[in-house]
Parts: sequence; C-alpha cells; structure tokens
Amino acid sequence: MKTPAPKEGKGESERSSTSRAGGSGSKEVLRLDEVSKIYKMGTVDVKALDRANLVIRKGELVVIIGPSGSGKSTLLHIMGLLDTPTKGHRYIDGIDTTNINEAQQARIRGHKIGFVFQRFNLIPSLTALQNVELPIILCGSCERNGKARKTLESLGMSNRLDHYPSQLSGGQVQRVAIARALVNEPEIILADEPTGNLDSKTGKEVLEILSDLHKQGRTIIIITHDESITRIAQRVVRINDGHIEE
Ligand code: ADP
Ligand code: MG
Repeated sequence: MKTPAPKEGKGESERSSTSRAGGSGSKEVLRLDEVSKIYKMGTVDVKALDRANLVIRKGELVVIIGPSGSGKSTLLHIMGLLDTPTKGHRYIDGIDTTNINEAQQARIRGHKIGFVFQRFNLIPSLTALQNVELPIILCGSCERNGKARKTLESLGMSNRLDHYPSQLSGGQVQRVAIARALVNEPEIILADEPTGNLDSKTGKEVLEILSDLHKQGRTIIIITHDESITRIAQRVVRINDGHIEE
C-alpha cells in the first residue's frame, strides 16, 4: 500500500522518520553561499564554480551530476576541505570554514568527512584491516576499540580482513574504501564517481551499500556524470559550467 503524501502544515514529528530523513527539519551539515572558484592560468581566469549555492542537511542522499568539465571535482574539493573558495563562504556544521589554514582544514576533514574515490586509493602494502585503521590512527583522538574490524564486518568483509588490496575483487576493494570512509563516523560521506571503475553488477552492489547507509541515517553526497546513479538519489543537484541548479 502506498503511503499518502503528508498534508500541508502537518508537523514534522507526525511523519515517519525514514521518509523524512534529511528533510527540511534536519540540521545543516554543509552550506555553500555564493561560492566561486577561479583558477588563474597565466593571464586567463578559468571560472570553475560560479556563485554556487548548496545546502546539505543531515541524513540526505544527494547525487550531484554534471558533464566533464562542469566543475564537479572543484566542488568536491571545496566541500571536502581539500581546497578553498576564491569568493563566497563555506560552512561545515554551521561553522564558517572559508578562510581556515591547511592544518585546520585537515583536522576538520579527519573528523567530519569520509571520502570514497573512483580509484579507491587504498594503500597496497596494508591489509584491508590496516587500511581501515589508518584514519583512526591519523585522527589521534578518535577511538579504536575494534571499530575498523566491526565496520568491515558490517560490510560483509569479515573473511577478508587480512587480505591485501591486490588479493581482493574491485567490489571488495570499494567495500574496504567505504569502511575506511565510515570508520571515524564522519558527518558527511563524499563519494567521487564511486562506481566509475567497477563493472555494472559490482557498481550496483556498491550503490546498494551507499543506499543502505543512507537508510541508516548517514549523510551521503555522490558526485558523478552517470545518469543511472540518480535512481538511488533522494535529491538530484545538477552542475553545468560551474552553475548549480536543482
Ligand atoms: P569536472 O570534475 O566536472 O570534470 P573540474 O572541476 O575538474 O570539472 O573542472 C572545471 C573547470 O575548471 C574545467 O574547465 C577545468 O579545465 C578547470 N580546472 C580544473 N582544475 C583546474 C586547475 N587546477 N587549474 C586550472 N583550471 C582548472
Ligand atoms: Mg572531475
């Protein structure tokens, strides 16, 4: 049976928590206000982002989609505190992080952002378990407590803990990368073309995992050029020539 759409004016609390995950009542985890990024190429200015506005709320699953050269990587770097805006403001968890230095960016990144990359970026000389332990060690103040093992187990990898990346399939490698992104319990998971290097069946499995994590309440942003990924989105944001449209 279909659940009827909530009537206008009905209180947030009366709606089911799953259908309201990441709704307008949830807190803001990321805000970009009129963010521009201009790369200087000799005498030429390249405007990779042009007054972009974006608000991401806790519990949302947002797919940001755009063609090659539209500014996706630039946007990802700014959202993930890997780069700073040329103009405008960036807020993480309500805190203005526009003009902070690299050390401060790294500290916030370690606590609040989990990255999943197209090329996985695991360390080949470390086992699955050691790769997932790495962010906890780097964070310093983060708890260990067997969390890396538990996170891998929750992703169906309990019998692959001591395997090296070269001994795992593409889908298993991406599970390890997802576990590594989750282990410090970040506010936001940023996934950059997470299925780009996987065959379509394995890609579907990885999308299922991301979708399940969203159902568990995680905030997930997927950046892609692949329209088929929008099927799992709760919200689709388009980027074209550095402009954000919804
Ligand atoms: P996408 O990830 O969607 O392909 P990018 O964010 O990589 O787009 O690039 C957006 C625009 O900015 C492109 O025109 C690209 O050539 C330019 N650009 C990206 N990075 C740099 C850089 N470091 N220096 C100069 N121009 C850049
Ligand atoms: Mg890119």
